[in-house]
Amino acid sequence: MNQNLTTDRETFVTHLECSITGERYEADQLHGLSRAGRPLLVRYDLDAVRSTISRDTIAARPTDLWRWRELLPVRHTANIVSLGEIETPLVPIPKSGGPNVLVKDEGRLPTGSFKARGLVMAVAMAKELGVTKIAMPTNGNAGAALAAYATRCGIETIVFCPDDTPEINVREIAMQGARVWRVNGLIDDCGAIVGKGAAEGRWFDFSTLKEPYRIEGKKTMGLELAAQFGWKLPDAIFYPTGGGTGLIGMWKAFDELEKLGWIGSERPKMFAVQASGCAPIVRAFEAGEEHAERWEDASTVAAGIRVPKAVGDFLILRAVRESGGQALAVGDPAILKAVDAAAKQDGLLLCPEGGATLAAYTQALSTGLVDEDDKVVLFNCATGLKYPMPEAPQALDRTRPIDFDAL
Ligand SMILES: *Cc1c(COP(=O)(O)O)cnc(C)c1O
Repeated sequence: MNQNLTTDRETFVTHLECSITGERYEADQLHGLSRAGRPLLVRYDLDAVRSTISRDTIAARPTDLWRWRELLPVRHTANIVSLGEIETPLVPIPKSGGPNVLVKDEGRLPTGSFKARGLVMAVAMAKELGVTKIAMPTNGNAGAALAAYATRCGIETIVFCPDDTPEINVREIAMQGARVWRVNGLIDDCGAIVGKGAAEGRWFDFSTLKEPYRIEGKKTMGLELAAQFGWKLPDAIFYPTGGGTGLIGMWKAFDELEKLGWIGSERPKMFAVQASGCAPIVRAFEAGEEHAERWEDASTVAAGIRVPKAVGDFLILRAVRESGGQALAVGDPAILKAVDAAAKQDGLLLCPEGGATLAAYTQALSTGLVDEDDKVVLFNCATGLKYPMPEAPQALDRTRPIDFDAL
């Protein structure tokens, strides 16, 4: 077993808190949204964490997600479910990005996307709290991660996805032991089905931010960045934003790290990147609104960020504004061009959502929102191998004379 998991322990969780009213909820009980219908945030006794471990102790542990266990909610080690959640590398893309641009390549995680971070935590907590049946709406990757982890610990899983979800996602969900249904609608239509079944007591609702622990898993992206950058954060982070779990989670991580005294008060500018065909957060940001209206007729090649309405909209908008960043929209042609550039110039295959961050960075550079000296992190959230690639149809007949000059 991984050395980060060898001792059983008490968690440092004190309680959960409504993200809008601050109302307290008991730890160690099953919760969905708060009574106000908003996400619940997990709170820790950070003074106790500070007197128990140092950042150097953590830095000396094996570099995986569970090295952060004191800042995570799982109480009993036996409830941890793992498929090998590695610390993801920061890969330079000097030609397609620039000299100070690093891609945090989340495609290397189990199930090929950063959804593994959120779901490994949420499933471990579901196991700890005795959940036996879970349902979830997904654009693909979340369902795949849920299926893998839930199956591994014997939790029954039913997944609903839009009927145009990438074929590979639908099949990997089924292959990893979940029951998967293609629905003639978008992710929030799938979410309505999950909500109805949950209200009837048929299953536990695992929709984005409707259970409290996915944020805690996604928070590890912020913790990792701090450690990888020597406890000084980068100048800007470009995050492809659907439900926004990762952006909200990183912002929470930075706050906890500062309270621990492990980082200072400087923060990266947070850029929430959306596709022009589905940009509810960008529209709300520009209008100065605290909440985002549903985006009608959402459409983009970047399926992972095709989220017309996010429950955590106000948390995303708050983090972006407090950081001095912005919400930016990029069109599908710019997304595809960025994917092509990173692959052909730097040998790094991005997913379309990762391409969106590169396109947004290029745009931000040209409009002066960031400059070339800024240290920038782009999130590539899934392996590019899950997505369609252009054909490569050239064939060679070995029985005929070969024109070597033409190869
Ligand atoms: C889920 C997903 C996103 C969006 O992540 P959120 O944290 O939900 O905003 C982006 N890209 C890919 C590939 C995804 O699977």
